[in-house]
This record gives sequence, structure tokens and C-alpha cells, in this order.
Amino acid sequence: MQDPQDLVNRLGVIAPSPEQTLNNTWYKDPSIQVTVKRDDLLHPIISGNKWRKLYGHLQQAIAQQSQSTKNQHPQTIVSFGGGYSNHLHALGYCCHLLGIKLVAIVRGDYSHQLTPMLSDLTNWQVQVQFVTKLEYQKRDKPDYLHQLNEQYPNATIIPEGGSDSFALAGTGNILAELQTQYDYILCPVASGGTLAGLATAITASFQKTQLIGIGVLKGKGYLEELVSKLLPPSIPIPTIIHNYHCGGYAKTPQYLQAFCTDFIQHTQVPVEPVYSGKLFYALQQMINSGYFPSNSNILALHTGGLQGAR
Ligand SMILES: *Cc1c(COP(=O)(O)O)cnc(C)c1O
Repeated sequence: MQDPQDLVNRLGVIAPSPEQTLNNTWYKDPSIQVTVKRDDLLHPIISGNKWRKLYGHLQQAIAQQSQSTKNQHPQTIVSFGGGYSNHLHALGYCCHLLGIKLVAIVRGDYSHQLTPMLSDLTNWQVQVQFVTKLEYQKRDKPDYLHQLNEQYPNATIIPEGGSDSFALAGTGNILAELQTQYDYILCPVASGGTLAGLATAITASFQKTQLIGIGVLKGKGYLEELVSKLLPPSIPIPTIIHNYHCGGYAKTPQYLQAFCTDFIQHTQVPVEPVYSGKLFYALQQMINSGYFPSNSNILALHTGGLQGAR
């Protein structure tokens, strides 16, 4: 394994990310303190939890890179995402800087109108491959992965969102960086890698901390299953709250947009409506409805993703 600091230095990521306590003007119980772990500030491009989840994958790819000069195949990563994917965006930039070839398999055909995210990928020499929704559904199927392996020999295949067992170490680092003990730690949940990484790293020293995931899509049962698949069997599945998906993944109703504008005005912390907006909206609603006891000390993980709002 490479020196972890080396990867951080090569990509220019800051560590640790800041912990910022917010003013209490945007919710009802002023005795409750909300602090934000600003993973959105880790790097201008490699944002938030995608960096955390890629960390283990990239370490492994770099270790293989030194060996791949011995065979004729360039070091290659294959991964998946939608046209606005924060994961592909972060990964594309990392691969560009590290000299790793990336094949991005994208759901839907944007070839006539690239999104800002896809234009960036193209500028970073990523090989973008548009596939139909039907083909995209096969992205985790063994046959399909086997076929990709034949097409791109020795490639590392990273699942959608970067969420697999390699994602857990980097997300666990978030807890190692914390300066304070918290009663609650909240994060958004989509593919579950971030919550699973936090749950795995919550050890004896965090016994009084309760972990809560906020589902950003309609996924009661499904999200718990995703998280449990990533967790070692001895670790319990954290609570996931399903009341604040606001209609589904990437659905941004008017009241949510209004909340985001208001939140940014009160706190000066930038949020977008797909992930961090829903997280803080949920937090506000939960505080206002008495979910947390008075004097609770809450940490909300800002997972970044502001590029997706372009
Ligand atoms: C991908 C993403 C998430 C979801 O994290 P999972 O590990 O997939 O649950 C949350 N926030 C942002 C900004 C993201 O880009």
C-alpha cells in the first residue's frame, strides 16, 4: 500500500475538513447545537463523500498502476453513473491527475447535449460510454461485469456511487477527524456507502453517539438492505429516516427550494436540494417536531455535491 498522505498530497485534498457550528436562527429550540462537518470544502472539484469513498479504491488502483507497467494494458477504472453524477465527476478528475484511464458508463444518451458534468469528463480525457436504461440496469450483474472485464483487461470496476467494501475505510476517517463528542451524527443516504462507513467506524469511543441516516429517495426497506449488505455482520444497521425524500431522488419541490434559499441566508453554508438540502431540511423539521432532546449536540455531515446543482 502507498503512503496515504501521498495520495492526499497528489490530489491536493485538505484534511481534516472543518467543523463549523451554525447559528441557531433557523430552527425552534435554541438549546440545541448544530455543527457541520464541511466535507464540501475538502477540494474544489473532488467533493465530499465521493472523495471519502474513492480513497480506498484509488489507493488500490495506484498500487496496481506500478505493476501494470509490466503488462501491456494501461491501468483502467470502469465505473457508472447518471449524467449529473458527483461520483463520476470526482473520479474523473482524480483519474485525470493520477494518469489512470477511466471508462464512464453513463445512463442515457447525452451525446447531443452534454451536461456540465459530462463536459468536464470529456475535458479530462474520460472515455464516456452512453448506455440505455435497460443496459444500465445490468451494472451489478456478474455476466455484465465479466463482459466488461474482457473488454478492459485488468480494469478495476467501481460500482455506482463508489459504494462497496473499499468505500468504508475512507468514510470511517470522518469520525477519526472529529474534535468533539456529539450526541447525534446525521448524513444523507442514497447508495448507503457513507452511512455504512460511519457505522463501521463508530467504536467504543463514540458509545453515546447515535447515527441517523436521512433517505434522499423513496427507499424504505431498500436503503436498510443496501447498508446492511455493506456492513460487517456484527454491526447493527443505523436508523434511517424516510420522511424527507421530498417526493423521490432529485425531486426538488418548491418548499425544499425555499428552505435551501432560507438556510443559505441564515448560515452562509451552501447547499443543493438533492442531498445536503434534504439533510438540513430533515434536521430542521426533526428539531421543530421535538425529535431531539433539549441541549442535544448534533453533527450534520455536509457531503458536498455542489457541482450537481449546475
Ligand atoms: C452520492 C452522494 C450522497 C449519497 O451518499 P451514499 O454513500 O451514496 O449514500 C450524499 N451526498 C452527496 C453530495 C452525494 O454526492
